[in-house]
Amino acid sequence: MKAANSNIKCPTCHGAATVNYHPFCSKRCSAIDLGRWFNESYVIPGETTSQEAADEDDFDQ
Ligand SMILES: [Zn+2]
Repeated sequence: MKAANSNIKCPTCHGAATVNYHPFCSKRCSAIDLGRWFNESYVIPGETTSQEAADEDDFDQ
């Protein structure tokens, strides 16, 4: 996988962003983030929600 920019981190999982899905690392993370915009209570079955709290701390990069 290619890093688009080492300064950009995926807002969803905080991994390195890629060219194809900038500023996300993958289509999956992009879809997850869009889901939050449309419905903040959106939850993916089987996904851990522990990342949610971390996201709020780290959001203004
Ligand atoms: Zn990601």
